[in-house]
Amino acid sequence: MQYFETRIVGFIVVGLFIVLSLVWSFSEESKAVVECPATKPHRPSTYHSHKATLSKILHSEDFRNASVEKLQAAIRTRTEVYDDDPILVEDDFTYWSKFEKFEQLLKSTFPLFYSKTSLHKVNYHGLVYIWEGSDSSLKPLVLMAHQDTVPVSNLTLSQWKHDPFSGDYDGENVYGRGIADCKDQLIGLLEAAEELISNEFSPRRTIIYSFGFDEEVGGPRNKNAEWLEQKFGKDSMYAVLDEGGVNLDTIQGVKMSVPGTAEKGYMDLKIILETPGGHSSIPPRHTSIGIMGEMIVELEKSEFPTYFTKHNPAFWEYVCVAEHSPEMPSSVKKSILSAGHDQKANEIARNYIDVDLGKGFVVKSTRAIDIITGGVKANALPEYVELTMNVRIAMEETVDTVVDRIIATIEPVVDKYHLGLASDFNGRQELKPSRPAGNCLLKVVQAFPPAPLTPTQGNHWDIFSGTIHHVYEDLVAPDSTGLIVAPGIGSGNTDTKYYWNLTKHIYRYRPGLLPGVYSKEHGINEYIPMDSHLHLIVFYYEYILSVDETDD
Ligand SMILES: [Zn+2]
Repeated sequence: MQYFETRIVGFIVVGLFIVLSLVWSFSEESKAVVECPATKPHRPSTYHSHKATLSKILHSEDFRNASVEKLQAAIRTRTEVYDDDPILVEDDFTYWSKFEKFEQLLKSTFPLFYSKTSLHKVNYHGLVYIWEGSDSSLKPLVLMAHQDTVPVSNLTLSQWKHDPFSGDYDGENVYGRGIADCKDQLIGLLEAAEELISNEFSPRRTIIYSFGFDEEVGGPRNKNAEWLEQKFGKDSMYAVLDEGGVNLDTIQGVKMSVPGTAEKGYMDLKIILETPGGHSSIPPRHTSIGIMGEMIVELEKSEFPTYFTKHNPAFWEYVCVAEHSPEMPSSVKKSILSAGHDQKANEIARNYIDVDLGKGFVVKSTRAIDIITGGVKANALPEYVELTMNVRIAMEETVDTVVDRIIATIEPVVDKYHLGLASDFNGRQELKPSRPAGNCLLKVVQAFPPAPLTPTQGNHWDIFSGTIHHVYEDLVAPDSTGLIVAPGIGSGNTDTKYYWNLTKHIYRYRPGLLPGVYSKEHGINEYIPMDSHLHLIVFYYEYILSVDETDD
């Protein structure tokens, strides 16, 4: 008995010790200060046989001038799209024929590329080129860009220093609509391919080039991804690379490349208010326009909650900034690095990004009230008012959570004026019965959730981030160091939203000298530095070589 008691006590003591040490080590681990994930240069093993070509791309005057001409031709072949374009290409073949011309330009400019690839036109003007690899067991790499551009408003023409469709080159920069978003990328991809072919490269891994033609209006006609999924199946691609991200920006004194490894969700939502009409000589105290005004005040007063979590890749971006910045206040640095386990620190980090840096869109959902219509005549009460708002959904939220929040925000106004309330989201729902005083309807026009997170650990990420390091630290600026490559969040959306089924490795990244916003994308005097374009070609060239070597 004595013996057994001793054994039992012994077991209890040992068991307790194990449990306590597990709890202790777990809490130590979860309380550990997070670190900026290290990335390092990666170059293809065949680098030396391509070095001369890479150097030519970056430094040869002839190559540069030939490249300028290709960009100019792309700018001069206009491909603007508008929100009210005919949805079906069949409805107006003539209207859409500008993309026919653009494709003809590509064909005449890139003969080697055309000789090695097969072109599949999807929904008439979506271009999918397949460059067949020798090893069909390897998943294809998908490289993307879009052919279309936003238009130029006639009202701003006088402010353009260069005709927006001339493709002017002043020896340093190329100007024109779409040069930065993203004809430079499309042309650069094909220039890299031509150089690879000239250099006897033929891929083991199939490479697919996929160019949509209506990205700037949300891509409703883009069926490229659907076509690829039908042909190759789900999760059939090695990786997808499209526009986006931030390159070589200095953030709080840290030189950074921040490819987008996720994208916020998107929603267009209408709030429609219908109230009885009548003569304006005997009006109610508030018309539907007045009530809508009150709703707008409430909507703009109410902010979405902020988050600073690992669901958002910007978490790592700011961890990297905190770790390396010579400018960020040390108390903020400490908070950002402890934000993963310390609630107070997390709040400080969120407020710093939201309020101090004015970058609330990084850490929360946002809404913008963009269109309002209502009323028809000065002496008639408005019977119908419609408001359109655009919502960008944080990684931590869903379409449902933001719709619920908007409903909760306008509900007190609905109650105050004794209105009915309905929502057409998830099938039409009556939230409050229809009332004689009027009715309010929430209508979700289009919505998609935040993008899945691209993994930023493992071989795929190492090759991708490593190529950025190698291009910028060894080729463009030899022996330079200090570039931090960190994952980030795309606040805007790209055509990649259609590619989620094809791979989890989706990178939104445009190599080059300037983050898009400084290139006046969509704006007046849009331009790119020519050097920037050459960097882009070198990046694609090297990335293709490295991806071709790996067996992943
Ligand atoms: Zn774009």
